[in-house]
Amino acid sequence: MQDILPFDPSLMLIGGAWCRPAATLRLADPSTDEEIARIARGGPADIDRAVVAAQAALDGDWGRMTAAERGRLLLRLGRHVQDNVELLAEIEARDVGKPLTQARADALALARYCEFYGGAADKIHGTTIPYQTGYTVYTLREPHGVTGHIVPWNYPMQIIGRSVGAALAMGNACVLKPAEDACLTALLFAHLAQEAGLPAGALNVVPGLGSEAGAALSSHPGVHHISFTGSVATGAAVQRAAAANVIPVTLELGGKSPQIVFEDADLDAALPFLVNAGLQNSGQTCSASSRILVQRGVFDQLAERMARAYRAKRIGRAVDDADIGPLVNATQKARVLDYLENAAGLPLLARVEPASDLPETGHFVPACLFGPVDPDHRLAQEEIFGPVQVIIPFDTEEDALRIANGTDYGLVASIWTRDGARQMRLARKVKAGQIFINNYGAGGGVELPFGGVGKSGHGREKGFEALYGFSTLKTVAAFHG
Ligand code: NAD
Repeated sequence: MQDILPFDPSLMLIGGAWCRPAATLRLADPSTDEEIARIARGGPADIDRAVVAAQAALDGDWGRMTAAERGRLLLRLGRHVQDNVELLAEIEARDVGKPLTQARADALALARYCEFYGGAADKIHGTTIPYQTGYTVYTLREPHGVTGHIVPWNYPMQIIGRSVGAALAMGNACVLKPAEDACLTALLFAHLAQEAGLPAGALNVVPGLGSEAGAALSSHPGVHHISFTGSVATGAAVQRAAAANVIPVTLELGGKSPQIVFEDADLDAALPFLVNAGLQNSGQTCSASSRILVQRGVFDQLAERMARAYRAKRIGRAVDDADIGPLVNATQKARVLDYLENAAGLPLLARVEPASDLPETGHFVPACLFGPVDPDHRLAQEEIFGPVQVIIPFDTEEDALRIANGTDYGLVASIWTRDGARQMRLARKVKAGQIFINNYGAGGGVELPFGGVGKSGHGREKGFEALYGFSTLKTVAAFHG
């Protein structure tokens, strides 16, 4: 791995300088479990220095930059990312086990986020408010200040793009804590940001354990906003820590997202979305579609077609660009295998085994499709975060709605039907932050506000909306008589 890394992966970026940490952590390739790098084990003192450096950047060159200059810088950064897509993709494939085609899509999305937020940086305006005679009243959109970004291992590039990209566009200074299992593209991104001319301290990167660097960042009194993506339990802990400092938090916590297929749907069009939205990134996707709700009249037909599509998938190494790669680590593998053991007795429609020549040390698990499954079953209720989907039959629109809304989550959902009135009714009634009609995911949609309701979290990232989330509104009332 060291041969392709154009930087020392064990360093942290603090205040524009690459610093050596007191301790390091092992980073392994999930396809083999072989060590590929040592990364920094940043601790509370490093986080403290990073927060101080971020504040200094706000008080210095970075804070004085105009919105147009910030925008140009992000556009330049986007071009650097674009020029390094292949390298970023290969690093991500080795670091998190993401098959190359999917890793390349993430790198392109990162470039697109820089382009989108670069273009938007000078297009956020305040307003004037008609008020009493003698007053002029207007609003100003201002950065929060120092923003903390705690990022998981499943989509590091996309999540850095949508949170750090939007935060920088609004003039915040960022402290980024990547996941301990996925640091390398965050570090390369920071190098590219330096090359693009980002002033010292505007972006600081401190890798480390969640319980150390992550906890220190979410509780630091010098941080003014936290963006967190990850598990419900950790998100709640981050929100509790942030509450002590009374700062806003954006939480993106995953889901149990349904696709609802009615008998009148275009099944040919739906099929690839039904399967791929569950298997992409080995199911380790917050917006994975892990529940497929199918109207009874087409249940058997669709279940058989989905099972056939499963059997055509290949599970293999990320660098060989298999359809389905390994899970990120041994903990995730054990967790998914536990769910599969608990599924004994459920009707199994398809089970795809990992290729026989894969290293035994790799974190590969079988891809499994179950159905019909009771909507209350554990596999239909809990986020598995593996290549596992359940198909649930329903009879009426009311049934479908009850089942779709019958989990603690509400991230995304899709509705497959040709009936326009039904599309509109369900788009309003299904509990989710994003609804897709006759598609799933809309191709990723950098432009589309994203976030959940219920245990899926709160706040919105992506799109223009994120720029409001990463800024605060000041009202100025001037009395001039
Ligand atoms: P996690 O939520 O513990 O970790 C996500 C990030 O939070 C990492 O950067 C981690 O270092 C950091 N973190 C951990 N503990 C922290 C703390 N006390 N304070 C501050 N930051 C902390 O997730 P995980 O343990 O890596 O994965 C477990 C489960 O979480 C998965 O099986 C999956 O269900 C869920 N998950 C969801 C998403 C998502 O996109 N919604 C992403 C990753 C994991």
